[in-house]
Amino acid sequence: MLYGKENREEADYLEPIFGAVCEGEDLPKYKLNPQSVEPRMAYQLVQDQLLDEGNARLNLATFCQTYMEPEAVKLMTQTLEKNAIDKSEYPRTAEIENRCVNIIADLWHASKEEKFMGTSTIGSSEACMLGGMAMKFAWRNRAEKLGLDLNAHKPNLVISSGYQVCWEKFCVYWDIEMREVPMDENHLSINLDKVMDYVDEYTIGIVGILGITYTGRYDDIKGLNELVEQYNQTTDYKVYIHVDAASGGLYTPFTEPDLVWDFQLPNVISINTSGHKYGLVYPGVGWVLWRDQSYLPQELVFKVSYLGGELPTMAINFSHSAAQLIGQYYNFVRYGFDGYKAIHDKTHKVALYLAKEIEKTDLFEMINDGAQLPIVCYKLKDDPKREWTLYDLADRLLMKGWQVPAYPLPANLDDQIIQRLVIRADFGMNMAHDYIQDMKEALLALDQAHLVYHKKQEIKTYGFTH
Ligand SMILES: *Cc1c(COP(=O)(O)O)cnc(C)c1O
Repeated sequence: MLYGKENREEADYLEPIFGAVCEGEDLPKYKLNPQSVEPRMAYQLVQDQLLDEGNARLNLATFCQTYMEPEAVKLMTQTLEKNAIDKSEYPRTAEIENRCVNIIADLWHASKEEKFMGTSTIGSSEACMLGGMAMKFAWRNRAEKLGLDLNAHKPNLVISSGYQVCWEKFCVYWDIEMREVPMDENHLSINLDKVMDYVDEYTIGIVGILGITYTGRYDDIKGLNELVEQYNQTTDYKVYIHVDAASGGLYTPFTEPDLVWDFQLPNVISINTSGHKYGLVYPGVGWVLWRDQSYLPQELVFKVSYLGGELPTMAINFSHSAAQLIGQYYNFVRYGFDGYKAIHDKTHKVALYLAKEIEKTDLFEMINDGAQLPIVCYKLKDDPKREWTLYDLADRLLMKGWQVPAYPLPANLDDQIIQRLVIRADFGMNMAHDYIQDMKEALLALDQAHLVYHKKQEIKTYGFTH
């Protein structure tokens, strides 16, 4: 058998990549290629496959970080192989996690009299799961002591209908009834007139959201705390608050330091945040903290031996890279309070600018104008003559590379289609000017279009509204 150039899988070193044999072949997609491929070829093939995907920095759908400084990336690349769970092998990394928990506890005004506890997680989803589990176990311990028949009803969790999907998961996984406090036109965050109607002896806790994913609005956590305070005076079945601060937790302390939403409120017992949202780290890192160890039932804490001693850990995942938490620590060291504040203040300004410019078109009704979280969302004003929808606008913007999802609001308000822009640190004022220019062109094109493809009531999915 003679082998010629045609039968070769590997390329000559000098052969140009796009002239090489293996680049010209269609590799199997759903089973392993029998032969190996040269690294430079494999690199090119995979890179090319990702070529026509969305550009992360133009993705205005996500809260997750899309930029980190080269030094942070270098550090994270150098530490990818460290397993965050190996606390005894990597005690310095464990100490870095510990410092981050302390830094965050300080930002969230943990009380000196109490013993806060906290851990890193993969993101807010894992953090909420841990916060929810702690609430469930703590509730059961309290209710058992008070003699409640634990089997008479399912335990329940009270939350506004603007919840993020992780809470639905939590309730399904742990067999908990989710009691949704509906949002309505006048209540685009938790309705304080209604919330306590949903609470009873089987309530494991109430979740307040600092930054509703759909709209960027804040629940009034201070008001909620007062209601809980009054309620707890009337009953032995105490109820407490967990704050889902996935996006606000590392934003609000810098932009609105006087807003009281955190451990300053006595009934807020635990808080989570996503380090990879306004903590400015690439996904995935999150954090969850309890104001005092008494709110974290000991059954949920597992001991891992650590340098001869024992380090308590609490996590759903086991192995994962420590690179993200090292990236978080880099940001804390690098930016300090002033740096985070400067970055977030600028992001806030960009959001306000965009909201103002979008409002000027007179086509939209603003639902969130970036006043708190830098989220701009709006719906179309009624106009029977207009033939296009927000989905058409999303398509038009996509032609320029901008990913701006349109989607319906949650239950009760789901007849309203909105569009949302999440502004992040790497979306500068200059990009914002470009965006407005592209948006105006898109609007003009739509107004002059002869063909409109989306039915007015059609719901299209443009990805996850995270
Ligand atoms: C993003 C988000 C989550 C989920 O966070 P991940 O870090 O993506 O797991 C939970 N709750 C709220 C309010 C969010 O905005």
